[in-house]
Amino acid sequence: ELEIHFTGTLNDKMAGFYRSKYIVDGEERWMATTQFESTDARRAFPCWDEPALKSKFRVSLTIPSHLSALSNMPVAKKEERGDKQTFYAFEETPIMSTYLLAFIVGEFDYVEDKTKEGVDVRVYTPLGKSEQGKFALHMATRTLSFFTEYFGIPYPLPKSDMIAIADFSSGAMENWGLITYRETALLIDEKNSSVTNKQRVAYVVAHELAHQWFGNLVTMEWWKELWLNEGFATWVGNLATAEFYPEWDIWTKFSSDYFSRAQGLDSMLTTHPIEVEVYNSAEIDEIFDLISYCKGASVIRMVATYLGEDAFKEGLNIYLTRHQYANATTDDLWRALAESSKKDVKGFMDNWIKRPGLPVLSVQQNSENPTELQITQERFLSSGAKATDDQNSVWNCSIGIATDKTKEPVFIGFNEANGKISIPREFVADPSDWIKVNAGQSGFFFVQYSPEMLSNIVPAVREKKLNALDRIGLLSDAYSLTKAGRMSTSDLLELLRGYQEETEYTVLSEISSVLRAVKTVFDSLPTSGEFDSFASAFFAPTVEKLGWDTRSGDSDLDKLLRVLAISAASHFGDKTVIDEALKRFESGSFDSDLRGTIYKIAVKHGDIQQYEKMLEVYKDADMHAEKLQAFTALGATTNEELKKRTLSFALSDQVRSQDLVYGPSSTTGTLDGTRITWEFLKEHWSEFCEKLAASGYLLARCIQYSASGFLSEDKAAEVEEFFAANPTPQADRAIQQTLESIRSKASWFTRDGETVQSFFESS
Ligand SMILES: [Zn+2]
Repeated sequence: ELEIHFTGTLNDKMAGFYRSKYIVDGEERWMATTQFESTDARRAFPCWDEPALKSKFRVSLTIPSHLSALSNMPVAKKEERGDKQTFYAFEETPIMSTYLLAFIVGEFDYVEDKTKEGVDVRVYTPLGKSEQGKFALHMATRTLSFFTEYFGIPYPLPKSDMIAIADFSSGAMENWGLITYRETALLIDEKNSSVTNKQRVAYVVAHELAHQWFGNLVTMEWWKELWLNEGFATWVGNLATAEFYPEWDIWTKFSSDYFSRAQGLDSMLTTHPIEVEVYNSAEIDEIFDLISYCKGASVIRMVATYLGEDAFKEGLNIYLTRHQYANATTDDLWRALAESSKKDVKGFMDNWIKRPGLPVLSVQQNSENPTELQITQERFLSSGAKATDDQNSVWNCSIGIATDKTKEPVFIGFNEANGKISIPREFVADPSDWIKVNAGQSGFFFVQYSPEMLSNIVPAVREKKLNALDRIGLLSDAYSLTKAGRMSTSDLLELLRGYQEETEYTVLSEISSVLRAVKTVFDSLPTSGEFDSFASAFFAPTVEKLGWDTRSGDSDLDKLLRVLAISAASHFGDKTVIDEALKRFESGSFDSDLRGTIYKIAVKHGDIQQYEKMLEVYKDADMHAEKLQAFTALGATTNEELKKRTLSFALSDQVRSQDLVYGPSSTTGTLDGTRITWEFLKEHWSEFCEKLAASGYLLARCIQYSASGFLSEDKAAEVEEFFAANPTPQADRAIQQTLESIRSKASWFTRDGETVQSFFESS
């Protein structure tokens, strides 16, 4: 038996055992809390701090009597110790990893409920705000029961607590039985919060609860398999959200929020395989990224579709039962899924997990035999470069096919660099029939159609014979192909004409992203005004139709659509929309869903007066979500001095370091904004490093936001030089990705500037 006596520091770094400030009636107070993932339990106490070295923990705390204490397990014993001190001993935990331990000391209120299986669930909130925990509580109790059924294993602990922490570096942390959240990821004020806020809370709660099984009960063997935790929790978090909020159309939204974003990053040469060797804390920090979360979730969705839901569920149950209270590897998961499905899951999945990047499938229909498709696959690089033999691979694809005659996609396997597939004859009769390849968007690859196939499919988009998911997929693939020079920007714009009658929120949301991205690259052309008119025309009819005020009977998607349309129309310079927003900002008459958008428009198109007013809103706002809306609105100003003031404000002690990143994320978005922000970042580099010392992830995001909007080789070289002189190992990969992204956009502009200009001059 080894006994160690030690003292530690209650630090200010949002890592290890740290303090967080909160305000009660204008008075500053402090709470103490923990954040141990990935490698910070060792900041709090001596330990073998690796996920596979599991242990049982008995936590006890002696604290000032006016405060309360929480930990992973329920309180076993509580005693007054005199001198206004109270002793808490918590029940022993099951065997678990160090990174999941937690203890918290402070003042809280809470709301509570029980699941139908009898698990106690509490949501702890700041004093006086317990009402704001109700939405999350309702989601949590239902989700725990849903997962109990879905995984076929009861929730492993007697209680599940969730708590909002004012200073918090990530979104949330799945500590076993005591989940910590950023305020914006847990608290909802029914009167004040938007649908977007609710979507975030519902999803994050489900994601963290999924970890209670996937990650906590069965833990990855080592950090290189982080994706097992995060990819899975991301997928199943969406699954639970879709279960309880079918009206949100979650899986369609998934294709733009997760799938396309992951494809974007994975198209770079500087991406990494899902499963990647990591040897130190900085490297571990770096893989909490879109690849582990979003590509991870996308390939889970792909394999679930491939195996079918029943076999997939049964395999999960085998995996979780076999490895509970222990550790597991990716191969263990494949083995369990192979047992339930009788398929070679490892063979199907290995390249998706172990190789970096993703393929593009180039598809050509046989003009003699319309049921036959000739397909080649190769690794897709958004820089437009051709993958070398080393970089290339052959991926195992399960290709969904939809035509006018299929009800559900038909799946056909393809595992060659170059080959043919045959579509059953009853689904295609004629070479002019449209065929959607990767129907349902479950395959993590791009599709490039022959010109004939593409022109067949455009009418199906216009007539909405293609469902929303496939309309999004077609456009998002075309956008990526364009960026890489496999399609010309004028052809992309031509394709977009097929979407001019679009009315669905999820599809318009993708259209908006594509148009915004094209605008940032080609905004310096003399035809930028024509581009703006072209772009705003997609949204003006929706603004007209939905109006500015919530109508009785509006669905959540109507509310989201209204915000999207107003935001996009104003972004593309729609004068009527901008004027109305300014008017409403002055009068203060707008719904909570529109608040963030109206703030932004007012500051962007207003002057110092609107800016000052927004600063006041920031200071007075009670909900943290509203503070952030005000803060990001400050960044939208087009005035150089005010932009700098926003960035200085971000570094001041009026903004918590967890929110610093919203400075550079909101002041950029235009070339001018990028220039100002990058200069500021360079000048204040040591302050950024100091504030985010223990949060490599946030520092990396600051760098990406500040520099990735540049569009020239000169600027890429300047950024490269700066980081050569200021090495930043915890953001190394993010810096490489930023450089690659600048260079890709520079060559896109050079390649297509003229065709974009002539597209608008001739139309
Ligand atoms: Zn997670």
